[in-house]
Amino acid sequence: MNKAPGVVHLVGAGPGAPDLITLRAARLLAQADIVFYDALVHPDTLALAERAEKIAVGKRCGKHSTLQRFINKRLIDAARKHAVVVRLKGGDPMLFGRAQEEIDALRAAGIRCEVVPGVTAALAASAELQISLTRRGMSRNVTFVTPRVGAGEEASDWIKSICNADTAVMYMAAGQSSAIAAKLIDSGLTADVPVVIVENASLPGMRQTATTLGELQDTTECLTHGGPALLMIGRVFAQAKSAEHPLVDQAVVQEAVAAALSA
Ligand code: SAH
Repeated sequence: MNKAPGVVHLVGAGPGAPDLITLRAARLLAQADIVFYDALVHPDTLALAERAEKIAVGKRCGKHSTLQRFINKRLIDAARKHAVVVRLKGGDPMLFGRAQEEIDALRAAGIRCEVVPGVTAALAASAELQISLTRRGMSRNVTFVTPRVGAGEEASDWIKSICNADTAVMYMAAGQSSAIAAKLIDSGLTADVPVVIVENASLPGMRQTATTLGELQDTTECLTHGGPALLMIGRVFAQAKSAEHPLVDQAVVQEAVAAALSA
């Protein structure tokens, strides 16, 4: 008789910092037989999966991507061989993570699936900025949007969502920030609406650039440096300041820790 298939856990790895992960996620990683992970997962997070075979299936915009159908098939095949399969996704698996395709494919194949939430990038960025996305008296709603649509999908109505929101956080958008600002101004938002771009939230190399829609519309230089970034729009960001955290040299950190321990 064939043994029963394993369980596939769709697990949120959080925004980047390896200690911003849930205890449930850490426990599952330690138990995992095999882990399929995204490009944005930190190596120290992956290292929690001590005994697992680790397979990169990451997508970064414009770079190599593994076809979603192929990922679904690999998850199904893995569950037929292993008891604990982890699909590790950046941030929260259910936000802009194509979780639904994977859940539906697993269900159709009769494989049990569970989801472990994670800290989504917008909330990590709000923490970095120390700005509440729902500041009392100023913002009573937040919209999470992306202008990105897949081939053959209907265009996203992101402009309407942002115009109707008190606070907006845009994923997968920072590369087109100038064009986005121009479209929002064309659609009726004023040029003084505050914007902050947060790159590498929760990670060394975090950079926040405070600006306005008007300035952003006229900016030709790229405001990010290759890390994942969010475009955050709304009055609550009027307080945001530009800042950056230096890239941490890991060797220096390890030396400092070793010196502190031996003191
Ligand atoms: N599921 C993820 C989002 C995946 S889409 C989540 O819940 O966070 C990938 C996009 O997320 C990136 O293009 C970027 O817009 C955003 N992102 C992910 N990690 C980030 C980080 N550490 N800092 C800023 N933006 C981030």
